[in-house]
Amino acid sequence: MQDLKFREMKTEEIEQALHTSKEFGLNEKEAQNRLRKNGYNELQEGEKQSALLLFFSQFKDFMVLVLLAATLISGLLGEYVDAIAIIAIVIVNGFLGFFQERKAEKSLEALKEMAAPQVQALRDGSWRKIPSKELVVGDVIRFAAGDRIGADVRIVYASSLEIEESALTGESVPVIKYAAPNYHGAESIGDEENMAFMGTMVTRGNGEGIVVSTGMDTAMGKIADLLQSAKPLITPLQHRLEQLGKILITTALLLTLLVVVIGVFQGNDLYTMVLAGVSLAVAAIPEGLPAIVTVALSLGVQRMIKKNAIVRKLPAVETLGCASVICSDKTGTMTQNKMTVTHVWNGGTLWNITGSGMDRTGRFYKDESEVDPNQQKALKQILTFGLLCNHAEINEKEGQIVVDGDPTEGALAIAALKAGLTKEQLLEKFTIMKEFPFDSSRKMMSVIVKDENGRQFVITKGAPDVLIAKTEAVLWGEKNLYMNGELRSKIQSSIDSLAEKALRTIAIAYKPIPSNTIILHEHEAESNLTFIGLQGMIDPPRPEVKEAVKECREAGIKTIMITGDHAITAKAIATQLGIFRGKEKVLEGKDLSDMDVKELEDVVDHVAVFARVSPEHKLKIVKALQNKGHIVAMTGDGVNDAPAIKSADIGIAMGISGTDVAKEASSLVLMDDNFATIKSAIKEGRNIYENIRKFIRYLLASNVGEILVMFFAMILALPLPLVPIQILWVNLVTDGLPAMALGLDQPEENVMKRNPRHPKEGVFARGLGWKIISRGFLIGAATLLAFIIVYKQHPDQLIYAQTVAFATLVLAQLIHVFDCRSERSIFSRNPFGNKYLVWSVLSSLILMIIVIYYPPLQTVFHTVPIALRDWLLVIGMASIPTFLLAGTFLARKSK
Ligand code: ATP
Repeated sequence: MQDLKFREMKTEEIEQALHTSKEFGLNEKEAQNRLRKNGYNELQEGEKQSALLLFFSQFKDFMVLVLLAATLISGLLGEYVDAIAIIAIVIVNGFLGFFQERKAEKSLEALKEMAAPQVQALRDGSWRKIPSKELVVGDVIRFAAGDRIGADVRIVYASSLEIEESALTGESVPVIKYAAPNYHGAESIGDEENMAFMGTMVTRGNGEGIVVSTGMDTAMGKIADLLQSAKPLITPLQHRLEQLGKILITTALLLTLLVVVIGVFQGNDLYTMVLAGVSLAVAAIPEGLPAIVTVALSLGVQRMIKKNAIVRKLPAVETLGCASVICSDKTGTMTQNKMTVTHVWNGGTLWNITGSGMDRTGRFYKDESEVDPNQQKALKQILTFGLLCNHAEINEKEGQIVVDGDPTEGALAIAALKAGLTKEQLLEKFTIMKEFPFDSSRKMMSVIVKDENGRQFVITKGAPDVLIAKTEAVLWGEKNLYMNGELRSKIQSSIDSLAEKALRTIAIAYKPIPSNTIILHEHEAESNLTFIGLQGMIDPPRPEVKEAVKECREAGIKTIMITGDHAITAKAIATQLGIFRGKEKVLEGKDLSDMDVKELEDVVDHVAVFARVSPEHKLKIVKALQNKGHIVAMTGDGVNDAPAIKSADIGIAMGISGTDVAKEASSLVLMDDNFATIKSAIKEGRNIYENIRKFIRYLLASNVGEILVMFFAMILALPLPLVPIQILWVNLVTDGLPAMALGLDQPEENVMKRNPRHPKEGVFARGLGWKIISRGFLIGAATLLAFIIVYKQHPDQLIYAQTVAFATLVLAQLIHVFDCRSERSIFSRNPFGNKYLVWSVLSSLILMIIVIYYPPLQTVFHTVPIALRDWLLVIGMASIPTFLLAGTFLARKSK
């Protein structure tokens, strides 16, 4: 297709060349054929690591290599059973690591797939949202401010269209785009004024285009090689654990060395001591920890997906647990975005409209008596203008009305429909000459319309308090009056009284213009207007939000409403939701404009609602809150929200109404645009962090126990209480599975009843370090004690005493794992509440019994059956580490 000069062709010529139609699009069957023939509209990615490579990479670990070398030595010395057993354990360990990493990788891929962009394409005559990768040449697509262009297209319709092409050209100033053929050539991509390219971003206006190339044929595809750099991000905790790992390795190696040297001095033979040393080092270093952390994070991310929150950047999972303020948009996030016009106002007259927002039937009342809307001149005019200055489409599917477009505009269109007015009818009489689309900074939208007699006029609709400043006259009933202070304050009090009913208000104004005028800029259109009336619409709060706000408050998280809506409307809704409780401040955009960040800092802690805010203000709010030490979650949907989303600690974009730009800037996307989902994500974020703390505690306490048993045995001149293969077994079977199960634990009841965690909090904060050392010490001591007791009774049966020590160590850890479920005590929640943990502990126990009682494995693991009486000793000793301290907890509690 590249040899065709689309830039010079007229729309019809392109339609012919690509066998498509601007009005109908492609038919679905043809689109599928093209997709099959030409493949997905994707840029090829770099080579992925193969499964085999990933498997072998598990053995790169330094300690595993040392272990393998030691195994080789034991093989050479004729210790075949040991050698084979160790290799088997290393391989099983490798498989476990492999599956953990595979799982983590798979879920990250699935995540990428979910966050994949969508585009609006015209298929079989109707607009639908399809994944961008399914676009084919000939597809007709439409785009608006905030969208990323899905493929290379020739623009066939443009309204105030501007596109930022820095992804391709490096130039960040947006380029104005037109739909007309361009015969004067283009020297570079930046000059292609009627083309839009894959990956570039619409910053203003809207447009339609026909896809002329996809995938690697696009301009982006040609430079795709340059784009493959994305490295996976690691979370702050992973980073801290990496550093901790280094410290632990050094400590473990030193202690191991000490154990070996003392052991040799005590008369043990060098070979046994070296092998014991290496096994101990392997067991003591928590090399599995990073993989388990990744798995816990990615499983947590999947649980979040089930709750409609997509994490785009993994570090956000942790930061979520630290959030202390949520700044949330109102419309659509706290409210349902199901707008219904219930009131229309003109010149002192108020009409009520009944019927739901998704219903074409509704009645009109004036002063409680029903009226025919077609007999009410001002009412009809307001409804007509509301429909003409409107981008939403009303369709009917299975008898149900569906709005395609902005819900505010949908509500205006449905109100008009209730009076029998449709856009199709109006377009027979009126032609829309030009449109200046709505944007949240201007808070209005305008169209230039020509009627059948050739008369032209501007229709503007927008936020009343903003629009009123642009008016110089007012249509009061039948009379056209100059706007003056008195009329202005009458209009203002009507706006306020609608807003007090929590209604969102839209004002409508117009002005005639000479028929030959061409207006290029919105400020020319949006001035000297005549005010004609107001429409007020309800947008009920989402029922679940009130409870979510309350839960957040109990969790030490403040909710702030940030909205473009009127202060009174916002306050009324904030009151219904429990965000505004009487004493807080409501600040308006205009107050914010007058303040610098420092001044805002002084008051920001007392503000519950920011109203009539422009997206630009959001950045200031984020900065002021951050300067006050808050960890800020900020929502947004439009292009202009992106800077605030990016600089917030947790940038949140709307999945349904959000633009691509907002989504790309965010670290969390709400699939249902719902505030309550933010709360669920925070709860999950807190839980993931707590679960990570649980298994760090479990693994490290186990390691401390293992090292101390050996260390003290050496110091006390005792024989080895555990043989190397037993240490490896404990490391693999007893540590790995239950730790994974802890990663899947349910949150503790009080997870949302305490204040957020400080982001700089260390891994061992809140007593975790003490718990690890005390429990580890007790596990080590109990194991050694069991060993000494049995060894003193049967000094000639070392292997029996070692089996008892092995069983005590395993059991002590498997009991301790239940204690790890709670920061408080094993008794503070049902210890068997986590079924994964129960199963993993049961299977570890059964495997231990097999290793002790199954004769062929007895040779491998140097075990012998334990007498019943000694089992009592094992169980008693193994219970001490957990129950001794839990007992002190209970004693303290009962005081
Ligand atoms: P939030 O930030 O909570 O989503 P919002 O949706 O009310 O709030 P904006 O979309 O910026 O914020 O709207 C601000 C104001 O602009 C609204 O209160 C309304 O009066 C007006 N408005 C909204 N949508 C339109 C539209 N399509 N055309 C004209 N005016 C609009």
